[in-house]
Amino acid sequence: MRDSNCLFCKIAGGDIPSQKVYEDELCCAFRDIAPQAPTHILVVPKEHIVSVAEITESDAALVGHIFAVIAKVAKAEGLTNGYRVISNAGPDAGQTVPHLHFHILGGRPLGEGLLGNN
Ligand code: AMP
Repeated sequence: MRDSNCLFCKIAGGDIPSQKVYEDELCCAFRDIAPQAPTHILVVPKEHIVSVAEITESDAALVGHIFAVIAKVAKAEGLTNGYRVISNAGPDAGQTVPHLHFHILGGRPLGEGLLGNN
């Protein structure tokens, strides 16, 4: 189901423009508007799911598909030296768009610290 008030539902549906790099019937990938690495792409399901916290067993196939797409997109972007996948869930994580999305970050060494501060 789409949420007509949701930014990423609108982007996934083509109602708001984005720089899409991949799309299929279940999900799409587009460039982050405020990139935090040379390559910064968001992969989102077309179905409205708020965050990782809302994922249930019934989403298993969709989530598996999204991870296959993440690998495909990272390869297509030439991230042969590695990349990081992040999904923020809820306020403590700093989630700003309440629609499940996976950040693909790469194109430079990101360091060993998960939060990029060490
Ligand atoms: P998060 O903070 O994990 O919820 O990530 C939301 C991401 O969406 C941020 O990295 C934003 O820069 C990005 N973002 C917000 N609006 C847009 C947009 N219209 N097109 C592409 N990326 C966006």
